[in-house]
Amino acid sequence: MPDQVFKLITQEEKRQKEKIGLIPSENVVSPEISKVLASCLSNKYSEGYANRRYYEGNQIVDQIELLAIERVKKLFGVPYVNVQPYSGSPANLAIYFALLQPGDTIMGLKLSMGGHLTHGHPKVTASGTFYQSVQYGVKADARIDFDEVEALALKHKPKIIVAGNTAYPFLLDFKKFRQIADKVGAWLMADISHVAGLVVAGEHPSPVPYADVIMSTTHKTFRGPRGAMILVTPRGLKRDPDLGKKIDAAIIPGLQGGPHNATTAGIAIAAAEAATPAFKRYAKQIRKNADALAKALQKQGLQLVGDGTETHLMVIDLTQFGIGLGTQVAYAMDAAGIYANRNTVPTEQGSPFYPSGVRIGTPLVTTRGMKEPQMRQIAKWIAQVAKHVTAQQLPKDRKERTVFLKAFRKSADKDPVLLKIKREVKTMTANFPLFAW
Ligand SMILES: *Cc1c(COP(=O)(O)O)cnc(C)c1O
Repeated sequence: MPDQVFKLITQEEKRQKEKIGLIPSENVVSPEISKVLASCLSNKYSEGYANRRYYEGNQIVDQIELLAIERVKKLFGVPYVNVQPYSGSPANLAIYFALLQPGDTIMGLKLSMGGHLTHGHPKVTASGTFYQSVQYGVKADARIDFDEVEALALKHKPKIIVAGNTAYPFLLDFKKFRQIADKVGAWLMADISHVAGLVVAGEHPSPVPYADVIMSTTHKTFRGPRGAMILVTPRGLKRDPDLGKKIDAAIIPGLQGGPHNATTAGIAIAAAEAATPAFKRYAKQIRKNADALAKALQKQGLQLVGDGTETHLMVIDLTQFGIGLGTQVAYAMDAAGIYANRNTVPTEQGSPFYPSGVRIGTPLVTTRGMKEPQMRQIAKWIAQVAKHVTAQQLPKDRKERTVFLKAFRKSADKDPVLLKIKREVKTMTANFPLFAW
């Protein structure tokens, strides 16, 4: 009798195939990467670094890790790389641990305006607890307010400035961040978790000439296994020749034990894939699809934060239908076979749990081989869902709202309008494998 887990995995695979995944941080790995992730490499302990491990038997693992490091160095044009972080969040903490003392100041983009929890979000996070945190925001046009970044930097003298985000539809101006960092002698850290694949393909500016240190997850547009990498730039190494060693020491013994070797191998393969012409075409298509999706949504009467996108993602601003409707619309989209996530909008009048936006992106559907015609169809479905379900307004009272949403979620699965779209989605997705490259 196979374990129950296998049955559940089969169900998950069916879900991924039949539905349309628009979560901009998700992707699908190649069959080669899937293969190494399920390999014997996960049986091995390898605390330490190549040729100086605390465990015996790492003759082969050393070669794999060195291969991953060499490939990532070449791909980005950087002199020092660490591929051991378990994921993006511990990688960011490792950078802070390497460069800061407890109580030093971090400066990052506000969570509600597209920043990440690990960029100093106050109170509930490690980065906002062990360090002082100052958060900058965006202007009315949803673009980063560099006047504010500069004023806050001059006032608070942060030790590190973080340039990076999770829900920001525009290209990042790393040069401006550098100029401000230089005025106060701060480290500039670029967190390119979302856009690393676009950066490699030349579809997003590279932070390498400007940042001291770069962090990226490996599983978003980079299309590798779940993990992360830390890159030290030529500039960072010039400022502190020991920066690479400090990052290594922050990972182990600072924060982690044994690296996940199957992931390391997956990163090596992802880096090789990212260097191919096919990956360049892939990244170009992500952008074309994002533009097509944005235009089509606007044509359907929906509003987007910042009026469009320059990257792989966009945030639908549902404020025109009412405040805090993101949760409801995201539930309903999922019931209609299109999954995304609720998200705050920069002018948020709701709350993080009941925000007024839905964040969507094109990396995953582009991996499946979908193009502009499919984006236009998806936009029609999303608009249909949004208009259909926002006719019911959210109760203002907290308790009533919870009860309402619970009932809404149940009824959404039986809603004839949503069920009809779900069937149409299933017909469409049948023509698109999970990995088409
Ligand atoms: C996804 C992301 C992270 C965190 O990555 P996890 O692997 O989920 O821990 C950090 N920073 C940014 C900007 C991200 O988008």
